[in-house]
Amino acid sequence: MLRPILIHPDPRLKKLCAPVADIGAEIGRLAEDMLETMYDAPGVGLAAPQVGVMKRLLVMDCVKDPEAAPRPMVLINPEITWRSEETNVYEEGCLSIPDQYAEVTRPAMVRVRWTGLDGAAQEEEFTGLWATCVQHEIDHLDGKLFIDYLGPIKRQMITRRMEKLKRDRARGGT
Ligand SMILES: [Zn+2]
Repeated sequence: MLRPILIHPDPRLKKLCAPVADIGAEIGRLAEDMLETMYDAPGVGLAAPQVGVMKRLLVMDCVKDPEAAPRPMVLINPEITWRSEETNVYEEGCLSIPDQYAEVTRPAMVRVRWTGLDGAAQEEEFTGLWATCVQHEIDHLDGKLFIDYLGPIKRQMITRRMEKLKRDRARGGT
């Protein structure tokens, strides 16, 4: 089932999310819906607060090659356990900030520990787009958006555009 994606500015996108306490059927359904919503958008990552669920869960799939097999990932209670000193600049976007892109500098590599849908602990090192994506999505769980890395003028400009977009949508525009 597709879930509506919250658009910035929204107070739910600025909140610290609570850890997932137990992985039951509800969490399984949430993860499935989030993957479907992410692929439909289309996007490479989606965090639970973006669909209004204030829990520490994210989904991602950074396989860009349409010929390659997809790799849908579900990360519950993810934690960055190591960051490289080397950084990487990526032009980031966000499904909650449609059609706005800006360069963000982040560690080029991160090691992340999380719990899978099966309840098992997992740990993996991410590089390239995967590293950028997982850091961007974990930021969402802490109420942080990629525009928070920009200067105040650029951030305000994007926020005003989003306020206008929301007004237009509320009026029934496209
Ligand atoms: Zn985002």
